[in-house]
Amino acid sequence: MASFPFLLQVHSGHNQVELSYNGQHLEFDAPDLNGNRTIHTVEILNITLQEQTLSIAVCVPKAGPKSESALEAFQFQVKNQTQAAQWQANVLGHVYKDVKRSKHFKILVNPFGGQGHAKKLWEHIAEPLIKAAGCTYDLTYTTHRYHAKEIAKDLNIRQYDAVVCVSGDGVVHEVINGLMERQDAIIAHKLPIGAIPGGSGNALSFSLLGEDHGAHVGNATLGVIKGRAMPVDLCSVTQGNGRFFSFELQSFGLIADVDLGTEHMRWMGEARFTVSAVGKLLSQATTGCELAYIPVETNIKRIHEQYNEARQTPVVWADQTHDELDANHPSIVDKFGGVTDSFRQEDGWVVENDEYITVVGAKTPWISKGSITNPAAQPNDGCIDLLVFPKDIGRVAGLAVMIGVETGEHVFHKDVRYMKVKAFRVSPKASSGFISMDGEHTPYQPYQVEAHRGLVSVLSIEGRYARSMKQ
Ligand code: ADP
Ligand code: MG
Repeated sequence: MASFPFLLQVHSGHNQVELSYNGQHLEFDAPDLNGNRTIHTVEILNITLQEQTLSIAVCVPKAGPKSESALEAFQFQVKNQTQAAQWQANVLGHVYKDVKRSKHFKILVNPFGGQGHAKKLWEHIAEPLIKAAGCTYDLTYTTHRYHAKEIAKDLNIRQYDAVVCVSGDGVVHEVINGLMERQDAIIAHKLPIGAIPGGSGNALSFSLLGEDHGAHVGNATLGVIKGRAMPVDLCSVTQGNGRFFSFELQSFGLIADVDLGTEHMRWMGEARFTVSAVGKLLSQATTGCELAYIPVETNIKRIHEQYNEARQTPVVWADQTHDELDANHPSIVDKFGGVTDSFRQEDGWVVENDEYITVVGAKTPWISKGSITNPAAQPNDGCIDLLVFPKDIGRVAGLAVMIGVETGEHVFHKDVRYMKVKAFRVSPKASSGFISMDGEHTPYQPYQVEAHRGLVSVLSIEGRYARSMKQ
């Protein structure tokens, strides 16, 4: 194979242009309508060659809050068709090196999510990119709660390359639970999930793409088009005699109140979370519970070191672990029992009774833009990251901790507890309050959470979550 950059000389009108693909971006210097020459640095979606005309569909990725990444198309005239065809094959071969080209998607759009913009975001940004990349899809607008779950439960999973949610995390949560309720739940990881942010809680997008890129529908769409299936652990949650799965967040106390007690502030978008968190913190409210957990690592320095070590090790994709997963998971059994079982001594439970500001279990580092509550969370380390704000953080320290949540540095604060656990249980003392599972309302009753390795997969470019802890 040729070495980078892959170069091709073409013409745009009378101008000669050099196309240069460096293994990540396409760069070229071409005149615009006014004759000004600009360097374009873009991501390739597709290249077609018809006789002398080379057409390139690209996306211009954006960072920061201002504008959206957008689809653009360029056309050039080629001199030597054989050379152009070779260049096209080399570039597309590399762009889609480990992933299928022209995927077929099941798309779910939640027109109710967030501030009700998901339909527009789909039509104006995501759909044109998906079409330009040569992907195909069939689309359903969700019409009611649990609609996405019903669809996932009955979906012919072999017919699609992924199910893509243009929504918040709630629809992803439903899709996962629909998949896990199937007879063939054990192969659910063969249908990857894609996330395009269209809700007010888009923790998965932020975790996949990071703070700067996570809110961009175009970038997330690129991630779906070019992403490969990354194995993702699920948390099995038992409550009463029931069981369901959570992929992201199980919260109690302040964080649950902020998540669920702010529905009336939906118009604010994501700001509702920050505004209400500060208010709650100043009021110093605590919630009592019995908190039990099976620790794996409780030293934050060690957790930080392990986080950095994990980022140096090569990623493992779901397609590399399928056979192993299929062999190791004959059924999804909770090793540590359910919430109604008594604690077995050999499992190593630590049990405490106290008042807490909040107790948050998570598999994703971000809970929303500007909130990295569980920064050491990894998609597939088999652990749940448990964050605990004890009752005696004062107002001043509390505000410092809240500011720390923006960058994830609160975990190093002396009053904050942070650990990796295999399982945990929360038994609330009060009779009413909020418990949030992936942003969805859950009955205010005891719950037990246990991590299960790699039960589903999510489309990702990097194969791990964006860096959420400083080196
Ligand atoms: P947000 O991030 O704004 O909460 P989500 O995508 O998480 O958005 O969805 C929130 C809730 O909306 C989920 O519980 C989902 O089941 C529900 N839902 C989906 N479609 C509809 C609809 N057409 N009308 C009302 N609720 C819906
Ligand atoms: Mg939600």
